[in-house]
Amino acid sequence: MNGFKTTLIACQHCGRRIMVRAADAARGSITCSHVGCGAVNSLQSAFQYDEAIVQGLPEFGKLTYLNKPEITYPLQFGPNVIGTGDSCTVQVERFVHNGRCFISRRHGTLTVTFDKWSGRLRYQLQDGALDESRQHLQPSLNGTLLNGIPLQKMELIDVENEGVITLGGADRFRLAHFSIPAAMLTTYKVDLAFNPDRTE
Ligand SMILES: [Zn+2]
Repeated sequence: MNGFKTTLIACQHCGRRIMVRAADAARGSITCSHVGCGAVNSLQSAFQYDEAIVQGLPEFGKLTYLNKPEITYPLQFGPNVIGTGDSCTVQVERFVHNGRCFISRRHGTLTVTFDKWSGRLRYQLQDGALDESRQHLQPSLNGTLLNGIPLQKMELIDVENEGVITLGGADRFRLAHFSIPAAMLTTYKVDLAFNPDRTE
């Protein structure tokens, strides 16, 4: 608690201001001094990470085609539309099984976002993609599975590192998260005052 400055917070119970000193912060709680209250307020010091970190990242993870692991596809920040069509962020080959390709032109969407609380990239999968007008979510023809379990229509689901995405029942891709180096994260750490949801 070096350099701790006395600060005012709003009591979580009565809403009136109470003064927090270094000793209170070190203890992790403060008892409201206002008459008739006396509530114990916990002082969780909190932090998050600045989203600007995203601009400096060298990559955002990748998909490996498990039927032929030498084929990999890099991901971008934001929505990645996966499919065989030209308009896709991740344009995959037309993998043919018994004369047929089971992957739709715009088959599924894998969205990469930054979670400012954990400092990690988050990967969320949805079957289908927005159509060219960006108005309607068009489901794929043959469906999408995560770790062997079919995604429901409109379902948006987190994909863990090494999660396996199956497109159209025949083609499997393994997701590799990009994990942000700890040394880099530290430089983007933003300290918040106590209780980020406090009412001023
Ligand atoms: Zn109070």
